[in-house]
Amino acid sequence: MKVLVPVKRVIDYNVKARVKADQTGVDLANVKMSMNPFDEIAVEEAVRMAEGKGGHAAGTATEIVAVSIGPVQAQETIRNALAIGADRGILIQSETDLEPLAVAKLLKAVVEAEKPDLVLMGKQAIDGDNNAVGQMLAALLDWPQATFASKVEIKDGKAVVTREVDGGLQTIAAQLPAVVTVDLRLNTPRYASLPNIMKAKKKEIAMKTVADFNVDVAPRLTVVKVTEPPKRTAGIKVADAAELVAKLKTAGAL
Ligand code: AMP
Repeated sequence: MKVLVPVKRVIDYNVKARVKADQTGVDLANVKMSMNPFDEIAVEEAVRMAEGKGGHAAGTATEIVAVSIGPVQAQETIRNALAIGADRGILIQSETDLEPLAVAKLLKAVVEAEKPDLVLMGKQAIDGDNNAVGQMLAALLDWPQATFASKVEIKDGKAVVTREVDGGLQTIAAQLPAVVTVDLRLNTPRYASLPNIMKAKKKEIAMKTVADFNVDVAPRLTVVKVTEPPKRTAGIKVADAAELVAKLKTAGAL
């Protein structure tokens, strides 16, 4: 089974995002960037499917292709996926952060060229928090989708996916080819070992640009403004539990 894993370069989850003075967006100058954490989970699961770990039979995945749409530095993100165990990469260079529909259209074109059996991707990119590309891609391809996966099994040509839904877990079977988006509890991604980081340097990354695809990526939204969350006001100290309870009882006093 061939697996395509879209990986996005985003602001590192440990970095405190700062808004640009003109309120047009988040300041990314000199900020640590990393692979979107949910995409790391998707890469890890695909590699486990190849290795026969995490409940998968060895060879469940026979080829893993990592694809990123972003600036030239997104090559590092792809290298990271290759160091975890993906086989090769594709970078579609774009200097602007494209909207989910544009990303989904480009990924559709990659799917049509690569013909994977499974697109395994993050449920959400932590920069825009859109939670949209997987769903849009499945719709554009007219493929089944299984979102928020906390467990994935490949059985009889189907992806059997356990989903985290309100109040419990739902298990659904999606006929392959399908799009599966992964949630936090699916697995804990490994740290790439030094030998694998070295090996990843020799793996192929195909370099493309948005112009290579006949896709309308024009924005449909205008960002009106971006602001920081309101600052928390200072707390107060209470002498003992009795005072705390008294203050909690008179709501608004704290
Ligand atoms: P979003 O809908 O923007 O929250 O992103 C959902 C998922 O789509 C991410 O976890 C990635 O797997 C994929 N994705 C979004 N943007 C990109 C991008 N520029 N390049 C590659 N994959 C992306």
